Amino acid sequence: MQQTSSQEDLNPVAFVAGEQDKPLILLIDDDAVIRLRLRRFLEQEGYQVAEAENGIEGLAAYTCLHPDIVLLDALMPEMDGFGCCMHLQRLPGGARTPVLMITGLEDRESVDQAFAAGAADFVTKPIHWAVLRQRVRRLIHQAQLQRKLETANQALQRLISIDNLTQVANRRRFDEYLDQEWKRMARERSPLSLILCDVDFFKAYNDTYGHQAGDRCLQQIAKVLENTPKRSTDLVARYGGEEFAMILPNTPVEGAVQLAELMRAAVRAVAIPHAQSPIGQAVTLSMGVACAIAHLDIDFESLVADADAALYKAKARGRDRVMAAGQICLDTGC
Ligand code: GH3
Ligand code: MG
Ligand code: MG
Repeated sequence: MQQTSSQEDLNPVAFVAGEQDKPLILLIDDDAVIRLRLRRFLEQEGYQVAEAENGIEGLAAYTCLHPDIVLLDALMPEMDGFGCCMHLQRLPGGARTPVLMITGLEDRESVDQAFAAGAADFVTKPIHWAVLRQRVRRLIHQAQLQRKLETANQALQRLISIDNLTQVANRRRFDEYLDQEWKRMARERSPLSLILCDVDFFKAYNDTYGHQAGDRCLQQIAKVLENTPKRSTDLVARYGGEEFAMILPNTPVEGAVQLAELMRAAVRAVAIPHAQSPIGQAVTLSMGVACAIAHLDIDFESLVADADAALYKAKARGRDRVMAAGQICLDTGC
């Protein structure tokens, strides 16, 4: 494999140092003369160029250099351009990196094969330099736009899924995730648990300390719930005003009750003062737990209704406790 004349070793860090703004082109061609001519032309156009002389070297160079575009010869020994192009698509980031196939073959079959292998476009040998210039520019520009769009989409996705006040998942995300996990659990015939939790005497908290303090209290509670150790597939969401919910895939009721207890105790341990609370002058949570083996023919609404009924029981029995649907009260206060 070769590099530009001034940078002969393949140390990608040394290679790109000071040149970060210039797009990097990986040139894969077994013909040294073509490579030399292409490299000179492309460097004059303001690009950085890395070279490989066959498909296998090209894939290795791609993996360590992450170029902005690949210029790929169709006919090469060992692994031809079509095979190399197909392998490239499967490498991390490969599907987003445009491949411009350079071929001496003008027959329709080769062109079809190039596109079928995932090439974004092609140019033919002998090279028409003005055409090459425009195609490289356009493909790099399109790939940059695509990356910006993906970044913006990710930010947007986050924005529409996160509750602004507490920074945990919002109701929209809760509904979406519950639907998704209900279907997944139905396929796996595995239990799905749901915890609904409600802050006790929160109206009195607002009345005593003001709405802004109430907001800060909700933020503190969300942080405690989010920081309670759990599985990466568990989701904490703000369900409504002062209500939170936890979706626990692959979790039987015992595990869900255990987690609910941990969360309840963790909020209590923070001891957020609540002078008007008749049960200990600190902010407390009531929690309802429900569990079901999901079924594609049954709506998950029944799970939510069960958790809600259990929460209602926890309130009725004195608050600051965990109740599971269809089970006895698990708190010592019962
Ligand atoms: P209970 O123990 O039965 O749950 O009593 P509660 O006072 O918590 O219940 P209630 O439903 O009467 O009051 C809920 C309160 O939560 C009233 C509402 O203003 C407050 N609340 C809901 N959302 C927010 C919010 O985003 N910020 C603040 N500060 N308060 C909120
Ligand atoms: Mg409420
Ligand atoms: Mg409440």
